[in-house]
Amino acid sequence: MKLTGIGVSDGLVYGKVQFFHKDELVVCHKVKDTDAEIKRYEKALAKAEAELEALEKKANADLGEEEAMLFEVHRMMLEDADYNDTIKSHIKNENLNAEFAVFLTRDEFASMFSAMDDSYMKERAADVKDVSNRLIRVLKGESEVSLTGEHIILAADDLAPSETAQLDKNVVLGFITAKGSDTSHTAIFARTRRIPAVVGLGDALKRINNGDNVWVDGATGEIFVNPDEKTVKGLKEKQKQIEKDKKLLEEYRGKVAIGKQGQKILLCANIGSPSDLEEVMKSDADGIGLFRSEFLYLGRKNEPTEDEQFEAYKKVLETLGSKPVVIRTLDIGADKQVDYLHMEKEENPALGVRALRLCYYRKDIFKTQLRALYRASVYGNLNIMFPMIISVREIKAVKEFCKGVMDELKKEGKKFKKVPLGIMIETPASAIIADLLAKEVDFFSIGTNDLTQYTLAIDRQNEKAATFGDGHHDAILRLIKHVAEEGHKAGIWVGICGGLAGDDTLTSFFSDAGIDELSMEATRILNIKRKVIKG
Ligand code: PEP
Ligand code: MG
Repeated sequence: MKLTGIGVSDGLVYGKVQFFHKDELVVCHKVKDTDAEIKRYEKALAKAEAELEALEKKANADLGEEEAMLFEVHRMMLEDADYNDTIKSHIKNENLNAEFAVFLTRDEFASMFSAMDDSYMKERAADVKDVSNRLIRVLKGESEVSLTGEHIILAADDLAPSETAQLDKNVVLGFITAKGSDTSHTAIFARTRRIPAVVGLGDALKRINNGDNVWVDGATGEIFVNPDEKTVKGLKEKQKQIEKDKKLLEEYRGKVAIGKQGQKILLCANIGSPSDLEEVMKSDADGIGLFRSEFLYLGRKNEPTEDEQFEAYKKVLETLGSKPVVIRTLDIGADKQVDYLHMEKEENPALGVRALRLCYYRKDIFKTQLRALYRASVYGNLNIMFPMIISVREIKAVKEFCKGVMDELKKEGKKFKKVPLGIMIETPASAIIADLLAKEVDFFSIGTNDLTQYTLAIDRQNEKAATFGDGHHDAILRLIKHVAEEGHKAGIWVGICGGLAGDDTLTSFFSDAGIDELSMEATRILNIKRKVIKG
């Protein structure tokens, strides 16, 4: 059987399917025999405790005592009398099924923790959710995704960016999801980490089962389920051809890409964390055009400290030496949510308190990051970039804030450099007033993923809406041209760091438009260089 979705991360891989379920589908129903239901709950509780005990032991051996503590905290939560009594009373008094009783208790306890003043207690909200989700999973009879042993193809309704970030490439060879589109962060992250992926499968995913043998073609979006021998032979040949093509691209390594306006086009890499540096160094990147620093904040229990961030930025800057590194300040919000920030639930998170808007409300977080960035600036060629700008007023305020941070570091006798400040052009507003913004900054980098989403009113997460238009729409191409012209009039460089930078059907257009830098997943660089050079 062959299924087709949206291929978002190149590569042809083979593995066994393992489904990854989230807690979203917790069905509520009434039970007659509440004593039997409580027994069922107690059995699940014992199993969850045993799972945690095993995890604690493993973490102790692999990662150390501190990491193992988390599982101990979770086990203590499961043993908590209040927590257990609340679940049992939902079953007994309201005749609820155990899954739903845990689900209700989870949210009651999580809200209670979130409302506490003490920051340590606040953070326990995420733990109670985590441990309750474990219980719900056990009750549903689902096993834990075992990220060890066999090479697997992960299948899920959807994966959050934080989940993709945690996937172990040695175990998860590829993933397939029902939801998602080419510009969703999960897709972007799959490309950065070189994990072949097909998203947007919709209902077709239901035709795949746990344990199926599948071939995933992340370039074409094709999935071959339990293929016959003849198909496998063809796929193996294709794999060989892909390797051959990769070798042919090597002839462009080290060559300079000159655009149609005579501009040198820097071909840079996008990263999400220092762990992506290995790929960057293997590639032919002229620098890093986008470090999505928010990934340092995802998939953890608390905010990264100034020192932790400093170390991450320093590592990237030192590794790149004199090559430019553009680090974007955190773009949390929309699909990139972090529990420990306790952000209010929003009706339209993509239009809500995202990126710089979050920094406006949480200046403490913003300041910590900027301090870390400026302190790291002495270790390389740093450029700081701000996301989701829509007005001159905003950028003026941000520059003032940076000045304050520098003054503070100076007073403390800490070393730092004055660094170029740039902005992402990823809203129609910023593209239209590019002339005004260009006077305020040292560079522009066009974020075509959001520029497309906000200009065409197409949610980048929604695979169904994606069929109505993409970044090739004339509105987007005109905006890009306009931004390049206005940036150049003001004498600043203009790059692109959204997904279109790696789209080889547009390279010639960008070269004509005078674009100075294209930043993409490291694996795409040589192909784009070939396009620039061959014209
Ligand atoms: C973009 O919007 O194009 C971009 C590069 O930022 P992100 O994809 O992280 O939103
Ligand atoms: Mg963006």
